[in-house]
This record gives sequence, C-alpha cells and structure tokens, in this order.
Amino acid sequence: MIKIFARLVKFSGLCEEECIFCGAPIYSEDQGYFCNACLEHLKPHHPLEYRKLEYVSSYRVFGRYEGVLKSLILSAKFHANVSLARSLGKVISPYLWEYIKVINPDLITCPGVNIRRYWSRGFNHTEEMLRGAGVPFVKVFKRIGLGGISAGLSKEERLRAVKSHKLREEVIDLLEDKKVLIFDDVLTTGATITRLAELVLSVGASEVYAFFVAQAL
Ligand SMILES: [Zn+2]
Repeated sequence: MIKIFARLVKFSGLCEEECIFCGAPIYSEDQGYFCNACLEHLKPHHPLEYRKLEYVSSYRVFGRYEGVLKSLILSAKFHANVSLARSLGKVISPYLWEYIKVINPDLITCPGVNIRRYWSRGFNHTEEMLRGAGVPFVKVFKRIGLGGISAGLSKEERLRAVKSHKLREEVIDLLEDKKVLIFDDVLTTGATITRLAELVLSVGASEVYAFFVAQAL
C-alpha cells in the first residue's frame, strides 16, 4: 500500500526520489536514498553485548542484525546492489570514522569474496560499503572456493573460514608492523574475523581491530 502510494506521488511529480528500501517518497534532498522511517531504523544500536574475539584487540558494531538493517545488508550482498551498499556505507560513515579516529589504523581492509562470485556478481558488497563511507581501503584478502553461506556449528565455521581465506601475496610485505582495521558486514560466530586477524598477524601486523555493520545473535 505504501509502495503504491509512493508511486502515485512519484508519477504525479510531487517528489523526485523514492526510498530504495521501501519505496516511500523522499522529500528532503540531503538524506540520500532512504525515507525517514527507514533512516530511523538505521540508527546505531547501543549497548550491544561485546565479547572477546580471538586475535582482535577491540571492535565496534553499528547495529543489530535485524529489521531494515538486515534486509539492507542481504539485498546489497545477494542482489549485488551497488547503490544500496554505498548508501548503507554513507549511513554508517560517521560511526566508522569515529572508530577510525580512535584507533588510528595504518591500513583498512575488508574480506574478499570468492572469485566465482565476484565474477558472476561483479562486486564485493563490503568494498562498496567502504566506498560509500568514503573510507580508503587496501585489498588484503582473497577467497578460494568454499564460498557461500555456512550456518553450521562454530567448529565447522572455523574450519571453513581457515580453508577459504588467504592473503594476497602482493600485500604480505605491506603488513609488517601495521595496525590493521578489518571492516565486515555481519558478526556471527566470529570465525571469519578470527581467521582474517590470524592471517595478518602471521605476517607481522602489529594489531588487528574490527568494525561490523551488524551483529547477529
Ligand atoms: Zn523507506
């Protein structure tokens, strides 16, 4: 119903933009791609329960993996929606920058997607989020096979993460004595971030920090 109304308003020429999540009309020019109702759901959620992640000095999470935020992440990821990924990046930008200023990393990166998926979809949603947030990053990781979703036991997750993530050979020398910030979309078991942190520390990085758009559980 809201969508139909939004279309009518749009076609009547009363407004130019519509929310890319729910289709509602956007009246203000500076709020980007989301309507006010959706933006309300995209506020950072605090407090969240923080726990110890192996090899990670500290981390921050933007919000809970539910509602609009969850839908946006899933759409950006599985529908290869570049504008969604970038606008989400724009929304979290102030919070991500706040954390960047606190930890002052030498290098910022995000997980790779496996080649087959990259080729079929043509993009990495976490890279697009970083672009949307205006955060410069270096491609440090690559994925090999075993892509896709795993919702198994944490032990299986861990094994899968170890097998599927590698460092790109060309950046290995670059990581020595570097304070690295890894940006990822969702924190679930922590298996992936632990593996990524372990990889950069194994070639001499000094510390690893992490920022997640959302936390499940
Ligand atoms: Zn909306």
